[in-house]
Amino acid sequence: MLPDLATNIAQLDGVGPRLREKLAGLGIERIVDLLFHLPLRYQDRTRITPVGELRGQQDAVVQGVVTGSRIIYGRRRSLLCTVEDDSGLLALRFFHFSMAQQKQLASGRSIRCFGEVRAGPNGLEMIHPEYRLDADHTMPLADSLTPVYPTTEGVGQNLWRKLQAQALDVLRRSEDSLQLISLPQQLQWLDVSLKEALLYLHQPPPDANLDAIQQGLHPFQQRLAFEELLAHQLSLLQLRTQRRKHHAPALPEENELARQFIAGLPFTLTGAQQRTIAEVSRDCSHTVPMLRLVQGDVGSGKTVVAAVAAAQAVAAGFQVAIMAPTEILAEQHLQSFQQWFAPLDIHVGWLVGKHSKSQKKQIIEQLADGSLQIVLGTHAMFQASVEFQRLGLVIIDEQHRFGVHQRLSLRDKGSDAGRVPHQLIMTATPIPRTLAMTAYADLDLSIIDELPPGRTPVNTLVIEQHRRDQVIGRIHAACLEGQQAYWVCTLIEESEALNCQAAEKTAELLQQELPDLRIGLVHGRQKAHDKATAMAAFANADIDLLVATTVIEVGVNVPNASLMVIENPERLGLAQLHQLRGRVGRGNVASHCVLLYQSPLTQTARARLNIMRQTNDGFKIAETDLSLRGPGEVLGSRQTGILQFRVADIERDRELLTAVQDYAHSVFEQQPQQVPGLIQRWIVNADYYAQG
Ligand code: ADP
Ligand code: MG
Repeated sequence: MLPDLATNIAQLDGVGPRLREKLAGLGIERIVDLLFHLPLRYQDRTRITPVGELRGQQDAVVQGVVTGSRIIYGRRRSLLCTVEDDSGLLALRFFHFSMAQQKQLASGRSIRCFGEVRAGPNGLEMIHPEYRLDADHTMPLADSLTPVYPTTEGVGQNLWRKLQAQALDVLRRSEDSLQLISLPQQLQWLDVSLKEALLYLHQPPPDANLDAIQQGLHPFQQRLAFEELLAHQLSLLQLRTQRRKHHAPALPEENELARQFIAGLPFTLTGAQQRTIAEVSRDCSHTVPMLRLVQGDVGSGKTVVAAVAAAQAVAAGFQVAIMAPTEILAEQHLQSFQQWFAPLDIHVGWLVGKHSKSQKKQIIEQLADGSLQIVLGTHAMFQASVEFQRLGLVIIDEQHRFGVHQRLSLRDKGSDAGRVPHQLIMTATPIPRTLAMTAYADLDLSIIDELPPGRTPVNTLVIEQHRRDQVIGRIHAACLEGQQAYWVCTLIEESEALNCQAAEKTAELLQQELPDLRIGLVHGRQKAHDKATAMAAFANADIDLLVATTVIEVGVNVPNASLMVIENPERLGLAQLHQLRGRVGRGNVASHCVLLYQSPLTQTARARLNIMRQTNDGFKIAETDLSLRGPGEVLGSRQTGILQFRVADIERDRELLTAVQDYAHSVFEQQPQQVPGLIQRWIVNADYYAQG
């Protein structure tokens, strides 16, 4: 059988198990994957450039006569050979050469060579060019530009070209398998066949607009990007449709419990909170399972939104599970929920890794018999032995810490005889609109874009390490006035252990310098009990200065803390800095955040710290992060699996996104038979995401 585009690359000549493994590392398994592996740049071997027209830093084919060749004994021995044509003289330099080669390159011989031209000690030269010596010039000129592929260790350009030549042959023969879906009017400019586009990009004609290609803006690239984004969007729509086939319990919107809870709050809900609550509440009242992402900047009050939803589920006789990324945060939520719900006679418990066997056993029993209505916990809650009697709602706090995979397994936990719980996902990492549209098209979105009144924005200062003493002095003064402060040690080494040691060391040093302050310490390697004790002491104002690693990044809420120092902020992503900074500015005194950086800073690092100084708006920060670092970094590495595009770049191709969205809906509804093929073509692990 002739190979087609879906054929495994193992069928190609020259592909053994080792090469297969290497290519799999680049996401290349099928012939079509190989074709989507586009060149990084091109060499022009289509024409001969007269020596007189050569410029430095340029690849060129040159043809002439050897006029001399000798060994130079400089710092490094080399063979220097001069070549002349009608227009000038070029030197060829070889550091590795054989006697035979030296003899070959004798005066009077005709030569054609290809290489990068650069400025040498005596004019232009090529180092180690490819060359042919021949009177009749058998080194052929290419008819198209020569591709240079992005590669991995041990896969050379010649091998790439051989593989791609075979793949392109398969493509040329495949008449029907890559048919285009007809495009709407305004996108007619993208109307080239996929085949034509791929052939062009692998082997562009000599007159191709390389500038456009280099920027990824050539219509043929845009055509591919469009289809890739489309396939991605369709996979999410499919996921969403699958999910909506399940049933969830209908939890009535109108309920006394939620009303009582809201009435008992010591503050009025903001407009944004009210709107979000209404959206969540309406979703939960339907039998279509909710999957809603609530985005709200740090401190925007997401927890009460979660609590209202929990009340709605409990009122309908269902259980609620709330998952937090850390034990510290789970415990803090436990306190709030107990305080809110105990007076309403609702039983709240928690389940985390540090609990003893018997504590866990008790909670597990209460979940199974339904006597525990609300449970808070970390992922420990989703171990196999935990079963719920009637789980109606799952709430995931600080979603950016969880990947798609965890999201799916969590949903499975609550499934029971075809019934799944509603899911509410909350994140304080604002996701730029373009990214949200692309990454979370299968979710509904609510945005809390308003902070509770009375907050004063955090004043951020960017200060160099050598002014550390001044910063310490300032903390001292503030703490003596009754304020509290955080000192955050960021990851200096890859190793968590070393990082915790660094935090311990810092705490010791600060204690020596500030003997009259009460200094505490929290880091990830402490015993859970010590961690909890330190946090509680800080919350009770029994500690003035809390030295911490980034474990305090999410959720921690101690309103009296008004000062934060972050060491080596240049090592963190902007979203993470924004999260950390969100720990201060929660009370009614003006708060300050000091970014204590280590010079020298790269230009990007400087730009990033400046943004932190200029704004407290998480969405603006996220937009900047996206343009400075790309989507993978913004979403966190665990989220990127689904966002590794081959051709598309959501920053560069922003303009396409809206069109892709509209078009995806019309394809999904009007040409559903096209959907599986498109998804398969572009998404390597399509099957996993198709599980819904
Ligand atoms: P986040 O959105 O970061 O999770 P939290 O839910 O922890 O924020 O809320 C931060 C603080 O704001 C808490 O102390 C909470 O009680 C308080 N809060 C929430 N909503 C309001 C409101 N509408 N008015 C005043 N304070 C509020
Ligand atoms: Mg929170």
